[in-house]
Amino acid sequence: AGRSGSSGGVAAYDDARDGHGRHRLEAVEQLRTGITGGQLVLHYQPKLALATGEVEGVEALVRWQHPTRGLIFPDAFIDLAESAGLMSRLTSAVVDMALAQCRAWADEGCLLTVSVNVSPSNLVDEDFPDEVAEALRRHRVPAAALVLEVTESILVEDRERAVRVLSRLREAGVGVSIDDYGTGYSSLAYLAALPVTELKLDRVFVAAMTGSSRAASIVTSTLQLAHALDLTLVAEGAEAQATVDALAGLGCDVVQGYHLSRPLPAEQLWSWLQNRPPATVRSLA
Ligand code: C2E
Ligand code: MG
Ligand code: MG
Ligand code: MG
Repeated sequence: AGRSGSSGGVAAYDDARDGHGRHRLEAVEQLRTGITGGQLVLHYQPKLALATGEVEGVEALVRWQHPTRGLIFPDAFIDLAESAGLMSRLTSAVVDMALAQCRAWADEGCLLTVSVNVSPSNLVDEDFPDEVAEALRRHRVPAAALVLEVTESILVEDRERAVRVLSRLREAGVGVSIDDYGTGYSSLAYLAALPVTELKLDRVFVAAMTGSSRAASIVTSTLQLAHALDLTLVAEGAEAQATVDALAGLGCDVVQGYHLSRPLPAEQLWSWLQNRPPATVRSLA
C-alpha cells in the first residue's frame, strides 16, 4: 500500500531537499504554510512494557496532511524542514500537539508517556529546554510523561552544546531516548556520559534476531549494556509474535512495532486501547 496519497508528491519533496531555485523555494513555502497552517497531524504507536503487559506510552510520529497531495510521511519532508531552518517551528508544533493529546488522554483517566522525535538543530538551540518546560506547564503535563527521542547524529555537530541542552531537559525531568541505537557512531564512552534514560534498539537488529544468532547476540549485549547503565531498553520494529516472545525471554523492557499496532490517528489509538483487556493500559491511580 502507498505510504502517501501521491508518490509523486513524496518524490517532489525529497528532490527539493538538495535542490536549488524555484522548485525548492516552492516546497519550502508549502512546508512553512503546512507547519504554521495546522496541516501537521500526529499518529501514535503504542509501547508495551513486557514485564507487566501494560501499554505504558506512545510514540508520536508526524505526518503532513497536504491539501492536494494527501498524507505525506516524515521521511519525505523532515530533511527539508531541517535544511530550510523550519525544524524549530516543526518541533514546537509537534510538542504542542503531543502534549495536548497526552493531557486529553489523562483527563480520560489514562496516563500514557508520549515520545517525540527531535532533530539535531533542536539540540543546539539553547532556548529549547525552556520552550519544552513552558509547553509542559501550559498543558499541565508532568515532565516525566514526555520522552524526547534523539539520534546519535546529534553527537556529530557541536556535541558540547547538545549535551548541555539535553542535561537541562533531564534536570527538568524530561526523558531522553537514543533512537535507532546501534546504527550510529557514538562510542561507548559518550553513551556513558550522555544524560539519557532510554536506548531504543534499531529495528534492523530486532527484525533479524529470531533468524540470526549474531543479531540475537547484539540484542542480548545491548540489553546488558542498557541495564548496566540503568537505562530502559526499547526494541523497535517488532513485527512478529515470535520476536516479541524472544524479547520478553531476554528481559527486554519495552517493545514497539507493527505486531502490536501500526501508528494510528489519536481517535483510532484510543479505540484500540479501549479494546484491550482491562489493566493492560496504564491508568491514573
Ligand atoms: P523513528 O523515530 O525511528 O520511528 C519509527 C519508524 O518506524 C516510524 O516510521 C514507524 O511507523 C516505523 N515502524 C514502527 N513499527 C514498525 C515495524 O514493526 N516495522 C517497520 N518496518 N516499521 C515500523 P515513520 O512514522 O515513517 O517515521 C520515520 C522517521 O521520521 C522516524 O523514525 C523519525 O526519525 C522521523 N520522524 C517522525 N516524526 C517526527 C517528528 O515529529 N519530528 C522529527 N524531527 N522526526 C520525526
Ligand atoms: Mg523515534
Ligand atoms: Mg527509531
Ligand atoms: Mg528512524
